[in-house]
Amino acid sequence: MPALTLREDLMLTISPLTAFEDNYIWCLSQPASPFCVVVDPGDAKPVLDYLQQQQKSLYAILVTHHHPDHTGGINQLQEAYPNVRIIGPAAEQAKITSLTEQVRQGDVIELTPFNYQFQVLELPGHTLGHIGFYTAPYLFCGDTLFSAGCGRLFEGSPAQLHHSLQKLAALSDNTQVYCTHEYTLANLRFALSIEPENHALIQYQQLCLQLRQSSQPTLPASLGNEKKVNPFLRCENKGLQQHYREDTSLGLFTRLRSMKDQFKS
Ligand SMILES: [Zn+2]
Repeated sequence: MPALTLREDLMLTISPLTAFEDNYIWCLSQPASPFCVVVDPGDAKPVLDYLQQQQKSLYAILVTHHHPDHTGGINQLQEAYPNVRIIGPAAEQAKITSLTEQVRQGDVIELTPFNYQFQVLELPGHTLGHIGFYTAPYLFCGDTLFSAGCGRLFEGSPAQLHHSLQKLAALSDNTQVYCTHEYTLANLRFALSIEPENHALIQYQQLCLQLRQSSQPTLPASLGNEKKVNPFLRCENKGLQQHYREDTSLGLFTRLRSMKDQFKS
């Protein structure tokens, strides 16, 4: 996709609506449009409150995977907005029965009110049918890539999640990563246990501590920065491979994912 210079009125405003302990429901809008689009509404209430406050209507719901903290609010939102488009992974349609559109790798979603097209990326690993939504520079990747970390392997294999993360790492460095959880500080404690002398990581932790102290999200994350600080995107690093006596990126990834599962921060 060619780089675009976006007119300010066409840029997306992306607001984090907080839900449960550490979920973000990302809400997309444009100043001149009466519509919003939400990603992974685990709870309807924060979305309904926001729409009422902003005097906007709900145009579409994008769903990355079937877990209840990403889908629990869908039915109530559909009751309030019966024409809402509910777009999610074809491979998980049996588990997300309210989908009105099932999508897969390569599909393009037209969000007409915003004049935006999102590409669908299949990202198996955390769940088998997990997908992401991408339009430069915005990436909505659910529980696949987190800032300084990655999703747990609930259904897929390490090889699947490793491949999904490589697919994301191939996107442009200026990609803004909108993942669904505020796990950054805990992830950073693990990352620093792996690379205690990584200066980019030390600096990033300072920044994130400041943001959290003032109750601001650490997200979106910059993909370029993630490549410097996120151990799960750094498995090609020969120094790290040597340190952990792993010869391959996948070997190191598998090792780190299992170390993170045991890690007590
Ligand atoms: Zn999940």
